[in-house]
Amino acid sequence: MKNYDTIIVGCGISGLLAGLALAKEGKRVLMLEKEDEVGGVCRSYDISGFTVDTGPHLITGLEDGPIQELMDRYFDVVPTFVENGEYFVRFDNSIYSFPWTVPEWLAFHPFSFDDRLNIVRTLLDLLADYASNKSLDKKTVSDYVVKYDFSRRALRFIDCICLFLTGVGMGETPVLRIISSGRSKKKPKAEKIKDFLVEGGKTHYYPRGGIQSIVNALMQSLPKNAELHTGEKVTKITVSGGCVSGVVTDKAEYRAKAVVYAGPNTRLPSVVELPEEYAQKFKDLKRARTLTLWLGLDKRYFEEVGSEIWTETSRPCWVIPTSNFNSALAPKGEQLAGFGFLLAEGERVTGDSIEEYIKVVEEELPGIRKHVKMMHYQVMMPEQAANAKNNFFSGVKLPVTGLYAVGTDVDRRSMGITRAAYSVISLINALEQDGFVVRE
Ligand SMILES: Cc1cc2nc3c(=O)[nH]c(=O)nc-3n(C[C@H](O)[C@H](O)[C@H](O)COP(=O)(O)OP(=O)(O)OC[C@H]3O[C@@H](n4cnc5c(N)ncnc54)[C@H](O)[C@@H]3O)c2cc1C
Repeated sequence: MKNYDTIIVGCGISGLLAGLALAKEGKRVLMLEKEDEVGGVCRSYDISGFTVDTGPHLITGLEDGPIQELMDRYFDVVPTFVENGEYFVRFDNSIYSFPWTVPEWLAFHPFSFDDRLNIVRTLLDLLADYASNKSLDKKTVSDYVVKYDFSRRALRFIDCICLFLTGVGMGETPVLRIISSGRSKKKPKAEKIKDFLVEGGKTHYYPRGGIQSIVNALMQSLPKNAELHTGEKVTKITVSGGCVSGVVTDKAEYRAKAVVYAGPNTRLPSVVELPEEYAQKFKDLKRARTLTLWLGLDKRYFEEVGSEIWTETSRPCWVIPTSNFNSALAPKGEQLAGFGFLLAEGERVTGDSIEEYIKVVEEELPGIRKHVKMMHYQVMMPEQAANAKNNFFSGVKLPVTGLYAVGTDVDRRSMGITRAAYSVISLINALEQDGFVVRE
C-alpha cells in the first residue's frame, strides 16, 4: 500500500488549490478525483465553436484577496485576468449602472424617489450599526429592509440581489454579506464605510480564455511531488485510534497521516465515521441550484463590457456576455452570452422547461431566438452551502485528528472560487499550527 504525506479527496478548484499548496510546501501529495476531468464546476469546454464555462463566472476580490495570495505563493504560471467592466441593471428596456454608493442610489432613476430614500436610510442604518460595533452576525437583510415601506419593484430587486449573492433570499442573507460585497476585504472599517458613502468598489475580473484557464494555470504549476489520479472515487476515509490513516478508493487503498476532504460536506458522513450529532449538522444544508442557458448569437445583443442583472423578468436572470471580455470565446463576428437563473427547490429541468427560460430571455430581448446559432444548458450547484443565516460551515478542522476540509461549505466568507481560496488559506494555517507544515 502506497504512503503519502497528504491525500486530497476531490479535485475541483478547492482540492486542486489545496494539493498545489501542500505540494509546494514540500509534501508528497496524492490527489484523487472521481470524474475523468479535474476542475469540478470550474471548467470550460467547446460547444460548436463557442467556449462555454460551467456557469457564468466573475472573480471577486482579486486585487488583495485569497486567490491572489495563493497565486503569489504557489503558482508558476498565472492566468491573465481582464476587468469585468460594469454591472448593469435592466429596467424598462434601458440599462443603468449598478448603484454601489449612497450618491449613486440617490440618482438611480428606475426607482421612485421614495424607494431611493428608503434604500439610503436602510444603508445608513446598517452602516451606523456596523460602525458602532453592534453584533451583526445574526442579522439578515430583511431585518433592515422591513423598517421602510418599499415598493414591489424595490423589494424584488433587493431579494434578487441577495439570491444571486448568496443563493437565498433577503430573509436568510446575512447582512454582513452586503457590507463585504464587491469591496476589498482587507480595508479597515472606516474605509469600507467610506466606500459606501462615496466611492464604491466594483472591480471584478474574468480569466482570459474562460474559467478553465485558472485550472490550467494551476495544473501547469503542480510540482512532481503531487500525484494526480482521475476516474478514482474515494469510498472511505480510514481512521485508526481516532486518527486518520488513509483512504480506500474503488481501485486501491492508500495511507496518509493527513486527508483533506474537498467534496461536498453533505456526503462526508458516507465516507467517514463522524460523531452522530456532528454528522447531523450537514443534513439540512441549504444549497442553491442554477440553470445556465448559453446562447451563441450571430448578432451582437450586448454592446457593453460587463454583466447585466434582470430583476423584472418573470424569472430573475444574471447575464454575462463572456465573448465581450475575450472575443476568442466565440467564432469571429459572433457573441456568446450565459444567462444564469436560480432554480426553485425541487424544480426539475427538462428539454421542455428550457423553452420557458428562452421565453424569459425574449421578455428583454425580443426576437433573439432568430439569432441563436448555438444553445446549451447546464444545471449545477455553485456552492456546496448557500450563505444562509442558519447554514453550518464546518471550518477546516474536522472532528477526527488529521482530517481537514476545504471548499465552499467550510468558510462563509465571500463566494464561489474566492470562498474556496479562503478555505485553502485557512487549511495551510491550520496545518502549520498542527505542526504538519513548517513555513519559513
Ligand atoms: C452557475 C455557476 C456560476 C458561478 N459563478 C461564480 C462566480 O461568478 N464567481 C465565483 O467565484 N464562483 C462562481 N461559481 C462557483 C464556483 O465555480 C465554485 O464554487 C467552485 O468552483 C467550487 O469548487 P470546489 O472545488 O469547492 O467544488 P466542486 O467544483 O464541486 O469540486 C468537488 C470535486 O470533488 C469531486 N469529488 C466529490 N466526492 C469525491 C469522492 N468521494 N472521491 C473523489 N472525488 C470526489 C467531484 O467530482 C468534484 O470534482 C459559480 C458556479 C456555478 C455552477
